[in-house]
Amino acid sequence: MERLETGIHSGRLSTAEYEANFSDLHPRLDKHEALVAADRCYFCYDAPCMTACPTSIDIPLFIRQIATGNPIGSAKTIFDQNILGGMCARVCPTEELCEQACVRNTAEEKPVEIGRLQRYATDTAIQAGRQFYERAASTGKKIAVVGAGPAGLAAAHRLAVKGHDVAIYDSKSKSGGLNEYGIATYKAVDDFAQKEVDYVLSIGGIEVRHGQQLGRDFSLADLQSKYDAVFLGIGLAGVNALRVDGENLPGVDDAVDFIAGLRQAANKADVAIGRRVVVLGGGMTAIDAAVQAKLLGAEEVTICYRRGKEHMNASEFEQDLATSKGVIIRHWLAPKSILSQDGKVAAIEVEYTKLANGRLVTTGETGVIAADQIFKAIGQTFETSGLGSLRMESGRIAIDGEGRTSLDGVWAGGDCVFGGDDLTVSAVAQGRDAAESINRTLAAGAQPAVAVA
Ligand SMILES: Cc1cc2nc3c(=O)[nH]c(=O)nc-3n(C[C@H](O)[C@H](O)[C@H](O)COP(=O)(O)OP(=O)(O)OC[C@H]3O[C@@H](n4cnc5c(N)ncnc54)[C@H](O)[C@@H]3O)c2cc1C
Ligand code: SF4
Repeated sequence: MERLETGIHSGRLSTAEYEANFSDLHPRLDKHEALVAADRCYFCYDAPCMTACPTSIDIPLFIRQIATGNPIGSAKTIFDQNILGGMCARVCPTEELCEQACVRNTAEEKPVEIGRLQRYATDTAIQAGRQFYERAASTGKKIAVVGAGPAGLAAAHRLAVKGHDVAIYDSKSKSGGLNEYGIATYKAVDDFAQKEVDYVLSIGGIEVRHGQQLGRDFSLADLQSKYDAVFLGIGLAGVNALRVDGENLPGVDDAVDFIAGLRQAANKADVAIGRRVVVLGGGMTAIDAAVQAKLLGAEEVTICYRRGKEHMNASEFEQDLATSKGVIIRHWLAPKSILSQDGKVAAIEVEYTKLANGRLVTTGETGVIAADQIFKAIGQTFETSGLGSLRMESGRIAIDGEGRTSLDGVWAGGDCVFGGDDLTVSAVAQGRDAAESINRTLAAGAQPAVAVA
């Protein structure tokens, strides 16, 4: 039987199995379900859920609007704060943000389903093609945004609303950033990322130039000379190296590339996967790669993480999702070398780890896990080419509280800046807030003084 075949193969499952495996993780609530879910909200006056939302959406208000049969008004409440509220409703770790803070989240009760209600409202408005914003009169100002991910799109939309003309430069052939190339397939079905991009761009005044890479096709200095302001939302384009023997063997792949390939595949049956897969890492990328490897028909998928369960960046919900799909998560294991047979990956040698005086050390005890494919999900890195003398902090762009960088007229936000939490919703909040800062600065008719020392 083909699914037991060793090595890396495509077409391990039937068409029906692929369809079932990659269907919507949390299908949209219907009208009755939404009314029942909305009815559970206490509409708290101090709404801790709202404080926990990085974009500060007025959650009790949008839930009340759903409860009174006004999902379109509810969508406007959401989009006023977060124009990518549709994707955030699908990908936000609500169990760690708004729903964790919900007063109904107790031992006896579950929280109000804020994320699913947000999706109900935003999907209703997007499907109806309902636009809420008109552009202000033209300011005559031109702004360059580098990166068409959540940070760049949120910044561009807010700037366009204010009457500025925006040019977005992105190295890829499609807009959306990791919404298009990174988010797990089952969280963004039916090409939602592109539908949302179209919705955001329909405000007008935003031109997107694909295939344009900062550092290769233009420099930051070029943009500074041509535009009134620049926003950088370039995410994290690089990946950390494993630095163990065998890293370059065929079958050792980067998890983000694997996920991007899967997201772009017209047919899931074309995506090859190993029979025994090992994923190295402990974040959302590791979980997404492992779950999707399993859903593609891998027989055995093991996540190896070098620290304990409590140290994993992936949320409890994500970890439970992985184990519910049959993924094995093993802790306190570091990769030592990758073993091969006939020039291909055959196994990974791992070494046990522990904390000694707060530092992670290996114990000397080793083990071997059979594998024909290994995914590296050990973190992304920021690529600095084309940025000139921009001040960095811990390898990312340093910004002040308004998103201003150390260079006059240059703002930044999202994963590429220091101090963020690498979530879609936080990138949206930073893009939006930087746009407000740019608008204030241009309206005042002056560029800011160097804000970041
Ligand atoms: C596999 C994976 C799964 C994730 N899952 C979730 C999740 O479920 N929930 C969640 O909240 N977060 C998730 N995240 C994190 C989330 O995707 C990011 O925090 C978010 O996309 C950051 O947005 P951004 O706009 O800063 O960067 P990105 O989304 O990375 O967008 C950056 C854009 O800049 C472009 N670009 C990069 N370099 C250049 C250059 N030199 N020149 C021109 N253009 C350039 C890129 O092509 C891209 O379009 C996940 C991340 C990964 C890797
Ligand atoms: S905390 Fe919970 S119950 Fe209170 S307003 Fe927010 S969603 Fe409603």
